[in-house]
Amino acid sequence: MIIPMTFDQKISRADVDRRVEQRLSERQVRYTAGRRWVVRSMLDLGGPVTIAQLLEAVGDAVPLSSLYRTMALLDDAGITHKTHDAGGVARYELAEWLLGHHHHLVCVECGEVSDIELAPGQEQGVDQIVDDAATAEGFAVLGHRIDIEGRCRKCQP
Ligand SMILES: [Zn+2]
Ligand SMILES: [Zn+2]
Repeated sequence: MIIPMTFDQKISRADVDRRVEQRLSERQVRYTAGRRWVVRSMLDLGGPVTIAQLLEAVGDAVPLSSLYRTMALLDDAGITHKTHDAGGVARYELAEWLLGHHHHLVCVECGEVSDIELAPGQEQGVDQIVDDAATAEGFAVLGHRIDIEGRCRKCQP
């Protein structure tokens, strides 16, 4: 069984804000209103988003040029993680140290990417399989990422 990830059950928005602010301040970077707006919009949208989706969400608050700079800065600080959808379009999401460990459902039709979290027992099973396979190759595992490709509800015939 797959449990859809609801952010509210995990880390609160205020906690994310605090953690991001702390990470930036360690790097002598200010958590400006614009940067705050971008992080909150990513939380609202949920799941990995394209620059176009993010631009629409932030509206007039953050112009495109500064959105690109903000994304580069957040990426540099390890606050966001860049991924791609089935069509190869770049998508951005908040890093797992902020959101918690999860996987992605990637729709090959519409390109939407959504977050899913496995039940704890299932996640342990995945860890075990990954560990066994990697250890057999003498590889020291740090983590894993799983993207499940297919068609979302709206895109099924
Ligand atoms: Zn779809
Ligand atoms: Zn996992």
